[in-house]
Amino acid sequence: MSRLVIRGAREPGDIAISGGRIAAIGVIEPEPGDDVLSTEGDIVTAGLVNTHHHLYQWMTRGRAIGCDLFSWLVELYPVWGRLDVADVRAAALVGLSELAATGCTTAADHHYLVPHGDDTVFDAIVDAAQQVGIRLHLSRGSMDLGESKGGLPPDHVVEDLDAILTSTESVIARHHDGDMVHVVVAPCSPFSVSSELMVQSAELARRHGLHLHTHLCETIDEQEHCLARFGRRPVDVLEGWDWLGDDVWLAHGIHLDGDEIVRLGAAGTGVAHCPSSNARLAAGMCRVTELRRAGAPVGMGVDGVASNEVGGLFPELRQALYTARQREGRADAFMPADSVDLATRGGADCLGVGELGRLEVGAPADLAIWPGDDLGDIADPIAALVMGPDRRVRHLLVAGRPVVTDGHLVNVDLPAAHTALATRARRLWADR
Ligand SMILES: [Zn+2]
Repeated sequence: MSRLVIRGAREPGDIAISGGRIAAIGVIEPEPGDDVLSTEGDIVTAGLVNTHHHLYQWMTRGRAIGCDLFSWLVELYPVWGRLDVADVRAAALVGLSELAATGCTTAADHHYLVPHGDDTVFDAIVDAAQQVGIRLHLSRGSMDLGESKGGLPPDHVVEDLDAILTSTESVIARHHDGDMVHVVVAPCSPFSVSSELMVQSAELARRHGLHLHTHLCETIDEQEHCLARFGRRPVDVLEGWDWLGDDVWLAHGIHLDGDEIVRLGAAGTGVAHCPSSNARLAAGMCRVTELRRAGAPVGMGVDGVASNEVGGLFPELRQALYTARQREGRADAFMPADSVDLATRGGADCLGVGELGRLEVGAPADLAIWPGDDLGDIADPIAALVMGPDRRVRHLLVAGRPVVTDGHLVNVDLPAAHTALATRARRLWADR
């Protein structure tokens, strides 16, 4: 079998790829028949894993700019209720392309809006991921608790419990292949779901051996909702739904006390850390170092671009480092290698795909090759990558297949995709 040899990278050295996996790392002499990719001075990491996103939100970027989470949601829910399948497809294409361009080889999308019950929105997201060429954790999100029942979202954007469960089964049958597409069962958040939906979703996911995902402990407003409705804090409510387990990862996990951190760690429940979105919405700062010490997998997330207008995972590497140091008041609380670890191995562990996120022999050849031309003066290449200026990948490989080559997506005309999306987004402004 012929190999692809990545030569000359400053970190970690040469890499040989064969059969979609990393075959060797170190000093590698190409053999006759090998393809060679010259990466002189570049920095190679495992492909980044984005553990929390809402791709559809690219249709409503840059709105509700001065709002906290609940007022932001109340302003946006009615607009999201007008999205159609083509809008979701256009947003997913741009969102996944931007993720690939900023180093992601695996992306989790939490999609919880199914206007008019048309669950072909999930087909549209898978279609976009296949075009871009990256791995997708398709989280079949859901909401069944509208305003009239004490939830935050307006009634017209929520679904019926039975319809959600039936559709989730169908989405699993249509799309879960356990390789390029993993389906995840993902009711949205405590203030938009019934207890029945949470309990039945957990049962459904476990029948299929799939992972569970939801938002938890994002804001004090959410905590107060739980105390008022259940008389318990969010983690206690979660445990009552049988959602504390190593097949669950939570978005945000900010407002946790010390005991709750220990419980999440003991259960192996993961947390998707989204530092820019949290800052944008003034939600708070996740206790990342304590969660990791307790044994909880912690990954990194962009969150939707309606609360993180950048839309790329790369800037979160630096933001996570800054946030952890500010929160702890210690400059050594979080190092550049910790950021890379969160964005690769930690994310893969959250998603339950433990062989991803590793730059080691035998692992799938999901690789991000970052330009290093302007970083040669910094002795530590990982510090250079995390703390230096933002960058996009020079090359991106998924299972050894090229997704980005010389800075360009192989299968997407990204400027054209942005233009098409902007046309659609402006229609939503006009409809207000
Ligand atoms: Zn979110």
